[in-house]
Amino acid sequence: MTTSKEFSACVAHYDPDALPVAAAQDIVRQWAMPRTRDAQIERVGLHDALGRVLAEDVISPIDVPAFDNSAMDGYAFASEALSRGASALDLAVAGTALAGRPFTTAPGANQCVRIMTGALIPPGCDTVVPQELVTREGDAIRFSSAAVRAGQNRRLAGEDLAKGKPALLAGRIVRASDLGLLASLGIGEVAVHKRLTVAFFSTGDELRSVGETLSPGSLYDSNRYTLFAMLKRLDVETIDLGIVRDDRASLEKALRQATESADVVISSGGVSVGDADFTRELMNSLGDVAFWKIAMRPGRPLAFGRLWSGERAGTGRSALFFGLPGNPVAVMATFYFIVREALLAMSGATRQPLAVIRATAAGPTKKRAGRTEFQRGIATRDDDGRWSVVTTGPQGSGVLSSMSEANCFIVLEHARGDIDAGDDVDIVPFDGLI
Ligand code: AMP
Ligand code: MG
Repeated sequence: MTTSKEFSACVAHYDPDALPVAAAQDIVRQWAMPRTRDAQIERVGLHDALGRVLAEDVISPIDVPAFDNSAMDGYAFASEALSRGASALDLAVAGTALAGRPFTTAPGANQCVRIMTGALIPPGCDTVVPQELVTREGDAIRFSSAAVRAGQNRRLAGEDLAKGKPALLAGRIVRASDLGLLASLGIGEVAVHKRLTVAFFSTGDELRSVGETLSPGSLYDSNRYTLFAMLKRLDVETIDLGIVRDDRASLEKALRQATESADVVISSGGVSVGDADFTRELMNSLGDVAFWKIAMRPGRPLAFGRLWSGERAGTGRSALFFGLPGNPVAVMATFYFIVREALLAMSGATRQPLAVIRATAAGPTKKRAGRTEFQRGIATRDDDGRWSVVTTGPQGSGVLSSMSEANCFIVLEHARGDIDAGDDVDIVPFDGLI
């Protein structure tokens, strides 16, 4: 477990008032360690394994395929027949091999076996000539010896997965193909990491929950819903702690409760410079928390560190803490580009880099060098297969509709200045993200 001193040392190299996104990501990466205790592992059946993180390598207990079999519908024969030098081969059909119904005797030197895809290659045979390259008359076939090479159209035992070799590695997030693959090995149960538990709440006296009436100056809390949705997509357990008023006692209660019950605590709002000093004071009394101004837009203010549930920092249960900014778009941008990787790492997953596509900017965009900007974009694929992207309308960090309108983030790197139409830009598609 990292200590307060280590935290300060880790954070001290950076200027908290102008932290580049990459530096923030680095620090978070160092702090987001997978939980390694045995108690964090459980065994689940195949259906329940989808989307979970494998806790152990899966070693193949069998060869897949388990036997040499045909890759085509055609005729199996011994390739020696090809080396006799004749330009055409004439073979007699000795029988038929079907998938699940093998032909068990070796055919003679001038014989072959009618074979269907997936059927066991009969003894003595090593090659399959596809049926469309053959002329058949009664029980005889003829084909050009140039039609096929020795060993062709045969799937070898263990070619897909070899017995004793790892089929899937620990840290993998189980996908559809993996479920099929596990089934193909006859495995019905796997060891996975227990789901991470993430507690979250919103802060702000102005916030109302859905179902309440808005009074002048109040607004509905949307962050708890976007956070819930983004967390669900990462397959973590969520604890919604509601709206917390802007006062020390309420915040302290929420933070303690969250730290008692979760591996990670995420709040939104209340971390900008203007916010009451009690936030800062309180977080420092409950743990090691650094307040950053990240050189990113949206998402400049952010608090990050470790909280403890005990009387003092270093006592009781601990949880990683992310204090996200209040603005709804900033919550989403900081979640995807700062928090996401930490949650995956703590879940035991190997790194899952976001898919980045190179696109052409359809129009000019103002961009200030010295910060990373995550603009909302609409990307389309041109007839020639290139992606081009336009920004959605107003890019204010409170304009949540820009996220619903967009289908990607346009990532404008730290050092970059204004963008001209026709420039290359990186986009991160929302598909699979949102
Ligand atoms: P803050 O970071 O607390 O200063 O909040 C910045 C802006 O985001 C303010 O305009 C807040 O009203 C707004 N905001 C904060 N939390 C939420 C929330 N949960 N849902 C919607 N808007 C919010
Ligand atoms: Mg606030």
